[in-house]
Amino acid sequence: MPELERHHTLGSGGYCICPKCETRVPHHDGVRCMDERCPRCGAKMLREGSEHHQLWSAKRAQQAAKSRPAPGDTPPGPPATR
Ligand SMILES: [Zn+2]
Repeated sequence: MPELERHHTLGSGGYCICPKCETRVPHHDGVRCMDERCPRCGAKMLREGSEHHQLWSAKRAQQAAKSRPAPGDTPPGPPATR
């Protein structure tokens, strides 16, 4: 292909990402990521950078923050001087 690769545009190219195991595969032109299946777990995939993917990653970040606070995010408790 004479064209330069464009990894960060939502035109052709790009990646599909699995919402379950986060496997990324190159997106195939003319095939929606929702019609692709994850090669590892068989789940329907999301187009990386799409609205769905952004919603999913935001949700996932919230869940991660709930279950396990980021390191450095928890204030150190008062020093136990007793
Ligand atoms: Zn998967």
